[in-house]
Amino acid sequence: MNTKLWAVDKENPIKHSYPQIKQAADLLEQGEVVAFPTETVYGLGANALSDQAVLKIFEAKGRPSDNPLIVHITKQEQLTGLVDNLTQTAHKLMDAFWPGPLTLVLPKKEGVSQYVTAGLDTLAVRMPDHPVARALMEVSGLPLAAPSANLSGKPSPTTAAHVAEDLTDKIAGIVDGGATGVGLESTVVDCTTEIPVILRPGGVTKEQLEGVVGKVDVDPALLTESSTSKPKSPGMKYTHYAPVAPVFLVEGSQQFLEETIIKAQNEGKKVGFLATEETILKAAGIKELTSIACGTQADLTTVAARLYDALRAFNSTDVDIIFSETFSKTGMGTAIMNRLEKAAGHKVIKE
Ligand code: AMP
Ligand code: MG
Repeated sequence: MNTKLWAVDKENPIKHSYPQIKQAADLLEQGEVVAFPTETVYGLGANALSDQAVLKIFEAKGRPSDNPLIVHITKQEQLTGLVDNLTQTAHKLMDAFWPGPLTLVLPKKEGVSQYVTAGLDTLAVRMPDHPVARALMEVSGLPLAAPSANLSGKPSPTTAAHVAEDLTDKIAGIVDGGATGVGLESTVVDCTTEIPVILRPGGVTKEQLEGVVGKVDVDPALLTESSTSKPKSPGMKYTHYAPVAPVFLVEGSQQFLEETIIKAQNEGKKVGFLATEETILKAAGIKELTSIACGTQADLTTVAARLYDALRAFNSTDVDIIFSETFSKTGMGTAIMNRLEKAAGHKVIKE
């Protein structure tokens, strides 16, 4: 398949890039799969109402069929065809955080494709806040099922180039609207219970959610490494976000970080170092270290925005092993550490 590439103006795509948006929307209407930017990561979209179109997403990504997809909408009215019995809490969360990086798991209506939900009786829905994603949905008139536009297991894409790396010739097209904003996927919250439960940490923090609805629980499976607790979000059980070289999280002081790196170098390994600008600067004395910076400690949203690009960038180096700085699990740090732990397969070296 010849993958089309459209460059669009992110600021006002319908006004400034209508022909490109229309071509992409037409392909979606024809049941094809098209990648597009959202404010979290690039999504791989297909008509959520068509079984055939949705199946093409799983095929292109190599995604396990038991991992359900998030349906993207532009207007709350679209919910009527998709979900039922919304709680007060669900309404409060929509009003506060939509459009934005929050996905709600809601009781699904009859008729929604069983492939989208992987056979579950709930549906995950989000209203993205990205002009290009919204323009595609407005012009096509379709709700779009869209997981992240990467091959399964790879880091999620935050640029059109990342998508092209993984999916060229496998999908109908890529809409290039520049780098995404948040850089990590949406927060997934189960709203089918009285107290909402975070199934995946992401762009909206627990603290922000609690500011709107009071108590919010966290899926216990997120708090342990043990495989005994089964995550309620099927996708959370898969390894993810991993570069080719093994990643180890290093928990401890700057001195311990540096000793860990030097020890591996002395064993003959080529070492990669994933850390903030500040930490890399402090370790500048270490020779032959391949350091890739992901943002600044002063603002963890910059770490979120840079993380996946940094993880992918190690694949163009010749490192044998990657050591990563760690972050405290509060605010945006929770989602960053969740992705880093998955990239590392939970391998942690503690001081
Ligand atoms: P991705 O689209 O790649 O960002 O992944 C979507 C995430 O949402 C995965 O972790 C899915 O398992 C999760 N998800 C989607 N639908 C549901 C649902 N109905 N119930 C629980 N988790 C879901
Ligand atoms: Mg994904």
